[in-house]
Amino acid sequence: MGKITGFLEHKRQDESYIAPEKRIENYKEFTIPLKEEKLKDQGARCMDCGIPFCHSGCPLGNFIPDFNDKVYKGKWKEAAEILHKTNNFPEFTGRLCPAPCEEACVLGINEDPVTIENIEKNIVEKAFEEGWITANPPQVRTNKTIAIIGSGPAGLAAAQQLNRAGHTVTVFERDEKVGGLLRYGIPDFKMEKNVIDRRVNVLEKEGIIIKTNAHVGLNIDANKIKDDFDAVILCGGATVRRSIPIPGSDLKGVTQAMDFLKLNNQYVDSLVDFSAVISAKDKNVIVIGGGDTGSDCIGTSNRHGAKSVTNFEILSKPSEGRPAHQPWPYWPMKLKTTSSHKEGVERFFSVSTKEFIGDAKGNLTGLKTVEVEWIFEAGERPQLKEVEGTEKEWKCDLALLALGFTGAEKTLADQFGLKMDYRTNIEATTKDYTTNIPGIFAAGDMRRGQSLIVWAISEGRQAAHHVDAYLMGESHLPLKDNSDLPKV
Ligand SMILES: Cc1cc2nc3c(=O)[nH]c(=O)nc-3n(C[C@H](O)[C@H](O)[C@H](O)COP(=O)(O)OP(=O)(O)OC[C@H]3O[C@@H](n4cnc5c(N)ncnc54)[C@H](O)[C@@H]3O)c2cc1C
Ligand code: SF4
Repeated sequence: MGKITGFLEHKRQDESYIAPEKRIENYKEFTIPLKEEKLKDQGARCMDCGIPFCHSGCPLGNFIPDFNDKVYKGKWKEAAEILHKTNNFPEFTGRLCPAPCEEACVLGINEDPVTIENIEKNIVEKAFEEGWITANPPQVRTNKTIAIIGSGPAGLAAAQQLNRAGHTVTVFERDEKVGGLLRYGIPDFKMEKNVIDRRVNVLEKEGIIIKTNAHVGLNIDANKIKDDFDAVILCGGATVRRSIPIPGSDLKGVTQAMDFLKLNNQYVDSLVDFSAVISAKDKNVIVIGGGDTGSDCIGTSNRHGAKSVTNFEILSKPSEGRPAHQPWPYWPMKLKTTSSHKEGVERFFSVSTKEFIGDAKGNLTGLKTVEVEWIFEAGERPQLKEVEGTEKEWKCDLALLALGFTGAEKTLADQFGLKMDYRTNIEATTKDYTTNIPGIFAAGDMRRGQSLIVWAISEGRQAAHHVDAYLMGESHLPLKDNSDLPKV
């Protein structure tokens, strides 16, 4: 521990943001970093706890007190080395993670937690700036070949780990560019695309082969992949979108959030013209769904110049603070107000959409809602009850469905003959990430269902260890320390 009294002397200080009215003029990231001296003070707040709960709160098992201490002492290069021991892509998590580590930080019991995520981002950005992150290809190659299907954070993390072990890794990606939801789901104002390109450049220099426009199961035969490679890891994500089976859902203007976000991301990445984008300009936009995807639709609609932006969430409004039944160090279900919410939106909770209304030409013009309440009875699933007399009509020209994802696409499972679990994910446990077919493994959202980037990286790393052990009889690739937790 660098400074014993650090947590008593310094208050938590986060990076600041460009003002909402200014930042919505473009799609760029809008954070204003803290000065180095201030970051050191934030590192000094870490108490180097005997039992660092932050460490177990992190799905990667990051060595958080260790890098906090290095930052406090200004030893940035050592901090970057510690960070990269457990996380292949801290520049992604340092920008986008909801930071379960901070909710588990001991300082959070009676103070604001350490700014772990921001410290992480600054370490990795400094490391890139200083040129400390360079390609590090393996000295010796095995003669083993591995196919990874899907280039999201799970696929890329698995690829880097297995390449480090000397195997020849090929990543197959059906889209034009790599990154998965990092590129095509998450808007640039949360993470600019050059952050992905910068890292992918290093991976390619390390010898990872990347094939884009390569849709396994469509323009590449899955069985050929099985025959040509010694092992396969499926990292295809949980991409089946939930829809809303109510009258009017086929009207022009009722749009899946991922169609809206993907086209806009392609436009910002100069892959399509603005004419291809589903524009929210001058429209009354209603975003249905209150999660991350919904929030990204709000930020994008405001950048388009929407006339109004409204958000419905069917669940009741969470409490502002930590609920009593989710005490520290558990992850609390509390009200999340994102930077996109702060750019302008009216949010409504406990609202269910009953019907979309259209004109004679089939264009969406409005929608009907009703308020709902949730009935909780011991041992029963929560029941949804409509509140009588609360029906309401809203003007709407663009309804964005951000209702989550129901699981993985079936094509790959069918072609490889794989079992899916009851949640329609590929069946494989965290014991060894293997599926019912020997030599075929699954990781990331495709195995665990729609989740988080930090979990995708963690699963990619863990799966890589097990694939290496399957091919070589043993593996020296690291497993996270807390991987002896119950296997699910
Ligand atoms: C809009 C949105 C915003 C989000 N924001 C956040 C956030 O702020 N923070 C956070 O932690 N998480 C966020 N998430 C969740 C996070 O992005 C995912 O959990 C994570 O990307 C999952 O990684 P993955 O590698 O498992 O899959 P994905 O990122 O989904 O990547 C899967 C890849 O596989 C490819 N693929 C699929 N099938 C095939 C095939 N047959 N052949 C070839 N390629 C194939 C796909 O094209 C895709 O590129 C968000 C999700 C969405 C939808
Ligand atoms: S729990 Fe918080 S204070 Fe304790 S070691 Fe982790 S970051 Fe530091």
